[in-house]
Amino acid sequence: MTGPTAPDPLLQLALRVEQDIFLVRQRGREVAAAVGLEHQDQVRLATALSEVARDLLHTVDGADVTFAVDVDAATGRPVLRVDLAPARPLPDGRYEPQSGAVARLVDVLAVVADEGDTVVRMSRRVPAHAPALPPERLAQLRDELASSAPGTALDELAAQNTQLIAALDEVRSHRDELEVLNAELQETNRGVMALYNQLTEELEATNRGVVALYAELDEKSAQLRAASESKSRFLANVSHELRAPVTAIIGLARLLADPASDPLTAEQARQVGLIRSSAGDLLSLVNELLDLAKAESGRIEPNWAEVDLRAVFGQLRGTLRALATRPEVELVVAEPPAPATLRSDEVLLAQVLRNLLHNGLKFTERGEVRLRAERRDDSWRLSVSDTGVGIPPELHERVFEEFYQVPGATRVVGTGLGLPYARRLVKLLGGSLELSSEPGRGSTFTVTLPEGGA
Ligand code: ADP
Repeated sequence: MTGPTAPDPLLQLALRVEQDIFLVRQRGREVAAAVGLEHQDQVRLATALSEVARDLLHTVDGADVTFAVDVDAATGRPVLRVDLAPARPLPDGRYEPQSGAVARLVDVLAVVADEGDTVVRMSRRVPAHAPALPPERLAQLRDELASSAPGTALDELAAQNTQLIAALDEVRSHRDELEVLNAELQETNRGVMALYNQLTEELEATNRGVVALYAELDEKSAQLRAASESKSRFLANVSHELRAPVTAIIGLARLLADPASDPLTAEQARQVGLIRSSAGDLLSLVNELLDLAKAESGRIEPNWAEVDLRAVFGQLRGTLRALATRPEVELVVAEPPAPATLRSDEVLLAQVLRNLLHNGLKFTERGEVRLRAERRDDSWRLSVSDTGVGIPPELHERVFEEFYQVPGATRVVGTGLGLPYARRLVKLLGGSLELSSEPGRGSTFTVTLPEGGA
């Protein structure tokens, strides 16, 4: 069990009487310190050594103790090796320390055969960060150990006491630390519980708030719906009531201006003309209001049927030609690609397109107003584009609000009800009405309708 070459001993001692146990212990600690073992390991080795020394003294009348630095075959690192060669053969050639814990104090504690003799060997690794141990250093250590005088048994007892006190101190400080840690842990636990409770309460409060908010929202939307319904009802009633007297005024004015009636002075004829045109404007406003109110209250029921877009476009081409009075503006109604059919309400659809074309003609001074149809998958895109004044982007949604007219364009007559009405109708037909426009570059209103109806 020896290495190829047995290391030179650093120190040798004889263990024969009780006092030698102290000596072995003390010298063991000195050697351990000299080769670079850490303080705790020095104490461990010294303790193990004194235990084994006591056992051997009692069982085999002592031993020859040899300290040496060896090299661990597995790691190539130095180890401190202590061999105790028994004075008499070990019983059965075996050795078991009295206390089982002793073996744990060192890396190796075993009985080995060394050059025919049986020795008890213990060893402990020298830590990697300890100073190197070249042969010169070992020779120096050997000299130092040889010249240092061993202390008395009393000295060793005192040293042992000091070590014990230090170890006890360490244990106590560990226990104190543990107590502090425990207290901190309990504190933290209490804190976490408090936080958790607080969060739970806040969450509950927030939930209650959200529920209340939803209830309020529901109530508000019900109120809004009711308000919108009464507005539609009011508009319908007022416009209905206004229609009869306004129509009467127009009829009477026509009668007054009739050549068969009493002749009027030129001034009277002019004034009657004014009355007629104002009443005419009023009637168209009343009619549009009535239409819108009807659409909003859902009282318009589309008359669903197969609609031929070519027929609708042809009709629009004919009726709107009369409106396109400016020679600088061309009205183009492009022929839809065949088969140009969809399920819809022909009258309502024609009303929407007429409205959009009418606006195009109103707001375009030169260029063209074009109606075209395009099929995309299962829907139709009917677009009315013009090269007119255009609409600023921030007003693209506002023009669909009732009575809204883009400021500055007021010299063109109108009510501001056409677009909201058109959008309502398109919605009833299951589609959408969108606008894209740039001021000065014209506008495009696009009606998208599903081919199969709403
Ligand atoms: P009206 O034409 O009777 O004023 P609408 O609801 O049809 O009412 O249109 C609202 C406003 O939107 C118009 O007053 C006009 O300012 C703007 N507008 C509508 N169509 C066009 C268009 N083709 N080009 C430019 N502006 C338009």
